[in-house]
Amino acid sequence: MEKIVLNPIKIAYEINEMEVFKDFHTDSKTYKTIIEIIENTGEMIKSRAILKWCNVEKVEQGCVTLMGQTFVSKLLFDKLRQTEKVFINIVTAGDELDAVKGKYPASVVDILKYAILMETRNEVKKYVSEIFGYKDIAELCPGSLPDWPVENNRILFEIINNVGEIGVTLKKDCFMTPLNTVSGILYHGDKDYINCNLCEKISCIGRKKPFNKIEYLRIFS
Ligand code: SF4
Repeated sequence: MEKIVLNPIKIAYEINEMEVFKDFHTDSKTYKTIIEIIENTGEMIKSRAILKWCNVEKVEQGCVTLMGQTFVSKLLFDKLRQTEKVFINIVTAGDELDAVKGKYPASVVDILKYAILMETRNEVKKYVSEIFGYKDIAELCPGSLPDWPVENNRILFEIINNVGEIGVTLKKDCFMTPLNTVSGILYHGDKDYINCNLCEKISCIGRKKPFNKIEYLRIFS
């Protein structure tokens, strides 16, 4: 199948509908600034994504092959061994909002861009679910765990081909620009999977779920 380009993706661009802000104090200065930015930048938002539906061609001995390209990863091997098809996807919040960084604090604009990225990722999953019937979608993002490093972005970009169509480029260090961009493999039937369960950075302040040592040893030993 040819790749699918979603550009732009319509998201709920209202602070009280965005997941990232649900625990913010509504009387804080940051919250009020975000409301003001949203009111003034609706037309500027052009988040977008590119997807490619791929057969899982081979899963063996800690390796997974998609579209003739082999990834060496115990994580992918474990997660994709029962799966026939996956979506490689790249999602970006774009860089259009950077234009208002002189008018508003850059740190607040960056929080909003992150929130836009999260909403856009949810919209992409909703699209895959509605159009292709995927349920309980999970995602494997390069760079999230040492077993599946960011260098895998080179192969993902090669498979998708011409990611520049959505204004995303891969840098020499394999990170992407614009800053609020994510890449990954979407698969179904594993909605409870989250990297934090397998991440050894025990004291990470962004941790969403506890480290699961039993699961870690099962996959990586
Ligand atoms: S614990 Fe922190 S670093 Fe590790 S996956 Fe979760 S958020 Fe990322």
